[in-house]
Amino acid sequence: MGAAKEARLIAVEERADTVYDCIRAFLTFHRLSPDPVHYAFAHHVLCNPDGALARSVTTLTEGGIRLSTRDIEALGGGTGSQMVPHSVGRVTGGAESDAADRLVAQTQIQVEGFSDMMRSMRAETANFGRDLAASTDAVRGAAAGADVVRLATVMLDRVQSAEARLAAATREADQLRAKLEEARGDARRDSLTGLPNRRAFEEAFAEHSATGECGCLAVCDVDRFKRVNDQFGHSVGDRVLRAIALALREACTGHFVARYGGEEFVILFKGADIAEAHATLERARVTVAAKRYRLRETDMPLGAVTFSGGIAVAEPGEALCSVFGRADRFLYRAKDSGRNNLCSDGIFD
Ligand code: GH3
Ligand code: MG
Ligand code: MG
Repeated sequence: MGAAKEARLIAVEERADTVYDCIRAFLTFHRLSPDPVHYAFAHHVLCNPDGALARSVTTLTEGGIRLSTRDIEALGGGTGSQMVPHSVGRVTGGAESDAADRLVAQTQIQVEGFSDMMRSMRAETANFGRDLAASTDAVRGAAAGADVVRLATVMLDRVQSAEARLAAATREADQLRAKLEEARGDARRDSLTGLPNRRAFEEAFAEHSATGECGCLAVCDVDRFKRVNDQFGHSVGDRVLRAIALALREACTGHFVARYGGEEFVILFKGADIAEAHATLERARVTVAAKRYRLRETDMPLGAVTFSGGIAVAEPGEALCSVFGRADRFLYRAKDSGRNNLCSDGIFD
């Protein structure tokens, strides 16, 4: 092979290594799996650092915020990897997260508008510089006092207007940033109970999984909840869900409790073994079962509302769908054995 060709090949290989290293660093930083969608997204962003996509990524990740698979989807980076198959078939609060996605998209558009405004202001500042140079020439030439006064007045007006616009733009930027943060928070919170939602749970699980630590996953489902709605109405059912959410959060302090959808809750017991996770959830089950709900308006008793749960060990690095499937099977064993019951890897109540 000729020396020139060899040098070209080495240059290409070196460039490929650099790009690959950058992509790897990008995926590692954002804790994204190296699947083709994420890889292509990272490639596009890193190879077009001045492009619109890279600018959106910079805006979204300002302050060290990590990108999620959903962010990538929202930015048009494909469908992303499905951590939990749809066949698991849970209610996901899709409308809620769609609304949050729309808010994020709108805010991004506003941020783009803000950038345009800043660009036009910069152009104006350049004009101002030209005028300043002209005024200097005018003074130097001592041509006429009237010219200098006219230029100075124009310049002063421009400076004042630019200052006012800059102040307004800065306020707007602060508001946009706050809105974006709020939208990101809303997209990960269940509005009924205030708990993290399914999306937040999936992200928390992926983050935990990447640490290689052990843990356990519990899936809880309120027993015969349809009856509560049928007998007392949906709004009473909502109140019961809020009470159960609170009881779970309090009993499982230090662990990640989320509303997965409908009357189902999930808990990630980080660093806990199955006995500890089971004992913690058992305390929550007993607390919830002991409560006697009453209708606020009439004081009429609702009777006990209970839940059943299944708990599985999450092996280090195990995919969510796999451990979720096992916990779900334990849940249905608990239901089959009479409800108001827990069932877990190696422990059967
Ligand atoms: P099982 O013990 O087998 O789980 O019985 P179930 O009645 O709890 O199960 P089923 O799946 O038949 O009914 C679940 C009910 O949960 C039906 C649905 O209307 C209700 N539900 C789901 N989400 C909400 C919600 O946000 N608020 C209220 N009030 N009800 C909800
Ligand atoms: Mg259910
Ligand atoms: Mg149920």
